[in-house]
Amino acid sequence: MPQEEIFDVIIVGAGAAGLTAGIYSSRAKLSTLILNEGAIGGQMVLTEEIANYPGVDTKKGYMLANTMKMQAKQFGCKIKSGLQIKSYDLEGEVKHFVLDDGREFSSRAVILTPGGRPRSLGIPGEESFKGKGISYCATCDGEFFTGKEVVVVGGGNSALEEAVALTSYATRVTIVHQFDHFQAFKHAVEQAEKNPKISFIMESELRSFKGDGVLQEVTMEHLPKGKITTMRTDGVFIFAGYIPNTEDLDGIVELNERKEIVTDTDLKTNLPGVFAAGDCIVKKYRQVTTAVADGTIASLSAAEYLRS
Ligand SMILES: Cc1cc2nc3c(=O)[nH]c(=O)nc-3n(C[C@H](O)[C@H](O)[C@H](O)COP(=O)(O)OP(=O)(O)OC[C@H]3O[C@@H](n4cnc5c(N)ncnc54)[C@H](O)[C@@H]3O)c2cc1C
Repeated sequence: MPQEEIFDVIIVGAGAAGLTAGIYSSRAKLSTLILNEGAIGGQMVLTEEIANYPGVDTKKGYMLANTMKMQAKQFGCKIKSGLQIKSYDLEGEVKHFVLDDGREFSSRAVILTPGGRPRSLGIPGEESFKGKGISYCATCDGEFFTGKEVVVVGGGNSALEEAVALTSYATRVTIVHQFDHFQAFKHAVEQAEKNPKISFIMESELRSFKGDGVLQEVTMEHLPKGKITTMRTDGVFIFAGYIPNTEDLDGIVELNERKEIVTDTDLKTNLPGVFAAGDCIVKKYRQVTTAVADGTIASLSAAEYLRS
């Protein structure tokens, strides 16, 4: 049997946070392996245009992801993708991973960067019009709706704050919310209510998306009466919550009630030698820039842990 290699660092996930951690760790001459489940680049490859990543001409999400991947590999980072981790043993000094195909990997430090996904509504047309009128990120896509009319779905802080932000671009923003009151903070509600470009449709839920290649209209149900109506729109921004990809880590590292990984400011988790970064951790703003910053911090913290 060949001797099993013990990596200095294993990173779980190859999104912006994981690839950045890979760049920093391998450049610091730490033997580094990234284990990734889905597409390399994570949510970046789902994003047509990334217009707010500073200092880079490349705006296509998949190109930014590819550049980060090449940079990590150039420093010697190994990336294994399209796999599934069956079990995690993160408690001892040597951490252990078993994949569903039986392969096993070990390391002295671990950086968890499994990211997350916006909660979708799960109604007809949603998959077809993602990126063709349906968005889950106003900061990312608001500009594409300059001079247009959009719908915002949700009643929490994100929905109301992003609705206000969208009025910088859109001529009209209609907030559709399922209850007769908002869950957002009073200040966020007041800001939305006093904005002349924002109108409200309460106690209503979207039922379907329709269009010819791009989104053109939505159907919605007014819940108290069950009445279905149709509304023309250029875009819909959905803020129905966010799901961290931490299902497999429940009971392994500390998660909060929203299933986000709890870290300190150095991005240490509750387990020695285990760090976490990116959209999966407890934080307010989820962007490529913040994921990249987290990946940097987690990698530097892991290097310090390994030195000590
Ligand atoms: C539609 C959309 C548009 C966006 N537009 C912008 C924008 O314009 N500008 C901007 O700054 N931000 C934008 N964002 C947000 C930004 O993409 C994310 O905040 C950022 O990419 C998160 O990076 P991450 O590395 O934390 O996670 P992710 O990108 O989610 O990467 C996580 C990776 O881990 C893998 N993984 C998950 N679970 C496991 C597991 N158990 N084992 C192994 N691997 C696993 C996933 O397959 C994925 O590859 C957008 C997001 C979306 C959804």
